[in-house]
Amino acid sequence: MLEGKIALVTGGTRGIGLATARALAEAGATVVLTGRDEAKAKEAAAAAGAADGLALDVTDAKAVSTLVRGVAKEHGKLDIVVANAGIMEDALLGMIREELVDTTLSTNVAGTLHTVQAAARAMMRKKTGAIVVLASIVGEHGSAGQTVYAASKAAVANIARSAAKELGRSGIRVNAVAPGVIDTDLTSGLSEDAKAENIGKTPLGRLGTPEDVANAIRFLVSDDASFITGQVLGIDGGLVL
Ligand code: NAD
Repeated sequence: MLEGKIALVTGGTRGIGLATARALAEAGATVVLTGRDEAKAKEAAAAAGAADGLALDVTDAKAVSTLVRGVAKEHGKLDIVVANAGIMEDALLGMIREELVDTTLSTNVAGTLHTVQAAARAMMRKKTGAIVVLASIVGEHGSAGQTVYAASKAAVANIARSAAKELGRSGIRVNAVAPGVIDTDLTSGLSEDAKAENIGKTPLGRLGTPEDVANAIRFLVSDDASFITGQVLGIDGGLVL
């Protein structure tokens, strides 16, 4: 399905990013994944069947640009980029610290923006490519105690919608996935009661797995999705917040 494609996945050392790197590699793509720590990135790449694992902090615009350009140069092109790296920290309105605002926006919003910009530059030459960014169900509907995270993910969804409008004539598709509650390290802090409450509000009656999200991303970056762009696809078991 993805034979001959060159793919890059940010934040690929665990969770959804790792499952996505594995899904793309299993579909035949040559995958490069990134993590903040180089040793962990190499380890994850080996586990996922990816070609390489590189160190990258997505908040560093110059580092993102250099890495993306380097991957495209080494492999002769870049077909697929998944801007997955992200963080989530909960805080009620009265408890929001400035540092939380800075780290969340610089990672989730600026980090995604840097990745999409660099991907677009690399893909522009061949006038083809597919980009997926990681939004969230809370970015679409809001969530008590998650105002900063929800705002950041609403921004991510609109990076996809806007970039899709700009890049369509260059043959580059940009979509977002908006996962519900997925069982990863990011959500491991949820209490059993909170998990049970979410499951109760989910028609499919379970939490999502990283593979549920990875499979949808694999579809969106494939040629089967060749007329799909600017969409925010919920992967949430029907969860109503
Ligand atoms: P995770 O915490 O397991 O993985 C996140 C990855 O991003 C890690 O590899 C981490 O090292 C990396 N990362 C964080 N900051 C980074 C930075 N500055 N530079 C480079 N890499 C960085 O989380 P996950 O659940 O796999 O989430 C992946 C994405 O999906 C995130 O963007 C998250 O917001 C989004 N998402 C997750 C859920 C969920 O329920 N798990 C729901 C909706 C959206």
